[in-house]
Amino acid sequence: MRLILLGPPGAGKGTQASYIKQEFGIVQLSTGDMLRAAVKAGSSLGKQVEGVMSAGGLVSDDTVVSLIEQRIEEQDCVNGFILDGFPRTLEQAGKLDTLLARKNVALDKVLLIDVDEDILINRIEKRKMENSTDIRTDDNADVLKKRIEVYKMQTEPLIEYYKDLGLYCCVDGTKEVEEVRKCILRCLKT
Ligand code: AMP
Repeated sequence: MRLILLGPPGAGKGTQASYIKQEFGIVQLSTGDMLRAAVKAGSSLGKQVEGVMSAGGLVSDDTVVSLIEQRIEEQDCVNGFILDGFPRTLEQAGKLDTLLARKNVALDKVLLIDVDEDILINRIEKRKMENSTDIRTDDNADVLKKRIEVYKMQTEPLIEYYKDLGLYCCVDGTKEVEEVRKCILRCLKT
């Protein structure tokens, strides 16, 4: 199973990706996690992307494509993977197509976890109150708004792109986590 998880920031992609990972025995590749690890390690990549990440912008297409390109070559990706937070632009989607074609593998599904903007902002506020010791620097309300705006402008066009390729399906991300999980499994098993 090779799957892309799409959805606005705060839609629960990471949580659902962990469930899917267990269910299908595949790895979760999160460009956000990879970039945060680089920032934490203080590597040159980390230093390069830190500013744009904490401002809620996107790092360059080439940077994330090259991260994914290297990661996908690893042995644990042979049985499949979940791309969580990648691709995020049409350019990244095109580069991913090229990359997968070169490896002679295809995507099985592109799944959107759909959540309305107002609900997202409420969720983030709640998460901040509950978990004040572990706040991401890109987790404040202003930056979140920026990230949602970037999602709408740059990432939402991917929905049409993958619809045209016949890969797209969508679940309502406003339901309870467990309900969302069931909907996703139904969607992935058909
Ligand atoms: P995420 O954890 O997926 O929400 O990503 C956190 C941040 O990392 C984003 O707001 C971007 O700054 C950066 N990032 C993650 N994935 C990508 C991507 N595919 N393209 C560009 N920037 C990304």
